[in-house]
Amino acid sequence: MAGRCVSSDRYIRGSIRVMPGCYITGQAAGIAAAMAAKSGASAHDLPVRELQKRLKKSGAYLPNC
Ligand SMILES: Cc1cc2nc3c(=O)[nH]c(=O)nc-3n(C[C@H](O)[C@H](O)[C@H](O)COP(=O)(O)OP(=O)(O)OC[C@H]3O[C@@H](n4cnc5c(N)ncnc54)[C@H](O)[C@@H]3O)c2cc1C
Repeated sequence: MAGRCVSSDRYIRGSIRVMPGCYITGQAAGIAAAMAAKSGASAHDLPVRELQKRLKKSGAYLPNC
């Protein structure tokens, strides 16, 4: 799930509801989908650290990882 449809608590919603939130969640969902398709794993079973590593490699801004 990415873009306007994502679920969050009300505090983060104020930041994530606008377009930058849509493209960062889209980038993460796209890379996660590619990883799931390649490995055959379900989205729930994907290694989050590996996803974060790939996002950083592709230029994503993840200052806390
Ligand atoms: C009035 C208003 C002002 C805003 N101003 C700003 C702003 O200044 N800056 C900012 O960053 N953000 C702003 N936003 C927020 C921003 O527009 C949204 O967060 C963003 O457009 C959501 O993108 P999205 O791709 O997730 O969803 P959407 O842009 O809603 O795209 C979803 C698409 O899916 C299509 N769709 C829906 N159902 C189906 C279906 N069954 N089959 C096929 N297609 C379907 C829809 O027609 C639509 O084209 C504003 C929003 C509103 C409503």
